[in-house]
Amino acid sequence: MRVVVIGGGVIGASAAYHLARMGVRDLVVVDAARGPGEGSTGKATGGFRAQFATAINVRLSLLARDKLSRMRDEIGADPGYEPRGYLWLAAGEQELARLRAARAVQHAEGLTEAVEVTPEEIARLNPAIDRAGLVGGAFCPTDGFIRPLAILRGYLAAAARLGTRFEWGAEVIGLDRAGDRITAVRTAALSLAADVVVNAGGAWAARVAALAGVDLPVAPLRRQILPTVEQSALPPEMPMTIFGDGFHLRVRDRCALLLWPDPAPDGFDVSVDPGWMDAVAAMALARVPVLRGVPIDRAGAWAGLYEMSPDRHAILGAAPGCANLYLVNGCSGHGVMHAPALGQLVAEMICGAPPSLDVSALRPSRFAEGAANPSADL
Ligand SMILES: Cc1cc2nc3c(=O)[nH]c(=O)nc-3n(C[C@H](O)[C@H](O)[C@H](O)COP(=O)(O)OP(=O)(O)OC[C@H]3O[C@@H](n4cnc5c(N)ncnc54)[C@H](O)[C@@H]3O)c2cc1C
Repeated sequence: MRVVVIGGGVIGASAAYHLARMGVRDLVVVDAARGPGEGSTGKATGGFRAQFATAINVRLSLLARDKLSRMRDEIGADPGYEPRGYLWLAAGEQELARLRAARAVQHAEGLTEAVEVTPEEIARLNPAIDRAGLVGGAFCPTDGFIRPLAILRGYLAAAARLGTRFEWGAEVIGLDRAGDRITAVRTAALSLAADVVVNAGGAWAARVAALAGVDLPVAPLRRQILPTVEQSALPPEMPMTIFGDGFHLRVRDRCALLLWPDPAPDGFDVSVDPGWMDAVAAMALARVPVLRGVPIDRAGAWAGLYEMSPDRHAILGAAPGCANLYLVNGCSGHGVMHAPALGQLVAEMICGAPPSLDVSALRPSRFAEGAANPSADL
């Protein structure tokens, strides 16, 4: 079986490794970038959580967490998984109710270590934040942090050891079709005959799908990050801390990373907005008073693209109307944490192996069927 994976970010790398491990030997990963990490994977901060609001997302996280825990043995790479916890804060009863509803789903899926926390417990878990107005929150100690580039490089190296070929600097510009199948993947310099094609094009996945005449509802969404300089006001073991309006912060390599999902412009623009930096810095100083003496590193700010699907859940499976184009798209900002699971699941589909999870909730046809997942923020 000749398989071409389009995109060598963390999703394509995981798909390639798992395909190779399941015995696919004629396997090529094609990527427009000059080398690994130039897409969204290189922009990610490396949060990992299983605290989601739908069963399928909790299940993906639990499968991924299991694989992250075993990654050193499986592929000889350290994914940097550090269970520092995710702490969600509620400023009112409505936010608390939202967290409770999500936790009921989490407990039903076996994530019983996720708990409700009182303002006093919040003070113990993160003494640095201003607790004025907080009524409670949610905490899961096994959520935490991972290293996106270590995971990417680990899967790429493992796939290469199993014989996968990589073509960097090779933008896919054409997908030849015969009937409901793709027959070849074309770049400016190559024409690769294919029995199966995997779309792992991240935020650009809709453009890739369009080359085969497939309409894929994945859109880019800019996300910006403002770091402080290296600091000691917040300890390295601080949990990811998330306010009800989406402002959140964590510590990575001694710098505090400040994030706030503002309404972003449409398109592929990844410039950092100075007005956004002013706003997020003001939020941080008001809510995390110990940061008042810590310089903000405006020059170190960066932005990247989420790959949004209409219901904020991944799209996984053969494309409607194009039977040998497999979609692993639309992770909606959770692609690094879910890559270990999604790569395995798509490889199982392609190789006809028994699925590790029931992923029917992620089927590409769900939007046309009016069966999208609930798209809660959590
Ligand atoms: C600021 C920010 C913070 C984030 N934080 C987190 C986090 O904490 N945790 C988490 O899990 N996720 C996070 N994410 C999301 C995560 O980065 C993505 O979900 C993930 O990287 C998607 O992986 P990917 O392989 O699909 O995409 P990418 O890494 O973007 O890879 C796609 C690849 O496809 C290639 N490509 C596209 N079109 C073509 C073409 N026509 N021909 C050839 N190649 C093509 C691109 O060059 C690219 O290398 C964050 C994202 C951003 C922007």
